[in-house]
Amino acid sequence: MTEPVENFATRAAHAGRAPLPESLSRPLTPPIYQSTVYAFARLDDLDTLTPEAQSYTYYRYGTPTHAALEAAICALEGAEAAVAAASGLAVISAAVLALAAAGDTIVLDRHAYGGTYTLATAELARLGIEPLLVDATDAAAVEQALTRAPRPKALLIEALTNPTLRVADVPALCALGRRHGVPVLVDATFASPALLRPLAYGASLVWHSVAKYLGGHSAAMGGLAAGEAALVGAMHEKIVRFGGCQGAMDAWLTLLGLPTLPLRMAAHSRTGQAVAEFLAAHPAIEHVYYPGLASHPQHALARALYPAGCGGMLAFDLRGGEDAVRQLVARLRLVAFAPSLADVTTTITYPYVTSHHGLPEDVLRTLGVGTGLVRLSAGIEDPADVIADLAQALAPLD
Ligand SMILES: *Cc1c(COP(=O)(O)O)cnc(C)c1O
Repeated sequence: MTEPVENFATRAAHAGRAPLPESLSRPLTPPIYQSTVYAFARLDDLDTLTPEAQSYTYYRYGTPTHAALEAAICALEGAEAAVAAASGLAVISAAVLALAAAGDTIVLDRHAYGGTYTLATAELARLGIEPLLVDATDAAAVEQALTRAPRPKALLIEALTNPTLRVADVPALCALGRRHGVPVLVDATFASPALLRPLAYGASLVWHSVAKYLGGHSAAMGGLAAGEAALVGAMHEKIVRFGGCQGAMDAWLTLLGLPTLPLRMAAHSRTGQAVAEFLAAHPAIEHVYYPGLASHPQHALARALYPAGCGGMLAFDLRGGEDAVRQLVARLRLVAFAPSLADVTTTITYPYVTSHHGLPEDVLRTLGVGTGLVRLSAGIEDPADVIADLAQALAPLD
């Protein structure tokens, strides 16, 4: 037995902190770097720190786990650069703060996710960045907003909107943005890079709420944005300054989710399509919103933009309003009521009392959110079992 040189408290403090030896092997799955700070051999090394040097100092600026995740999303999106943040809303905040200041305007789809809508109309507006709300499926209205003086600093759109699954014509909107010199920023959370890659159409930035399909297992929180290096660099600065870094555990869990993304999206799309077709033919259902259905007003556009499938998100109007929804939730066995989306299991939510709660009636009408509207996130189960559960829950009471 070798006699330790240091005292016990010193040995306890330093235990397990040896640097990794040069090794012939590597961990097959990426490791997590949870350390909040990095140690340097020489004082002068701090002065020579550059992003290219691949050195790290303090967690809020980024860790190797975040760098691995950012490199992974760059590969999936075909992007120059990427940045991770604490949440989807943190990357949206960073993007707008990187591009706009007090006195500026941004153009936002009025069908944007509720959190994005509130961020823009309550918080960014309070900082002097005025959101101009448009219907992104109305090209003339978008163009009118883009040509206002002063010129808006960004056009923010969603690839597939929540909850009524409107399809943004991403190539056309990117062309419009380019023509008027306004960067187009795309929330592709509902699509994921397995189904749509907006940078290829000329978007300046694409982002995702990691809690949804990228993480995919309802365990990781975060936001990931990818796009033009200058914009991403400016966003990173905002994230560092405002303190919006992602937790390393969340970045690591996201990394573990990414390899199965294409497999999961294929299964989500298959279940989504099958469930949408079943619901569309069901007498208890008034209307189904799913871009993969021929009845969807933008079905042709969806087929062109989403050749690999339209994903797992759909919505439907249930006859009988709130009482019918309450009964559906109580009778479902396999399908859980859970106000988020993109889990591997099928879930439903009720926008009228969750994401859109308390909005004025006229706004709800514009957004198509009625008392019978249910949003469904199709999982990766065998579609037959999800359909059987919905069938028993929708069957008339004897
Ligand atoms: C959930 C969600 C967001 C917000 O992301 P957070 O990670 O919850 O901040 C933004 N856009 C869409 C489409 C979402 O579904």
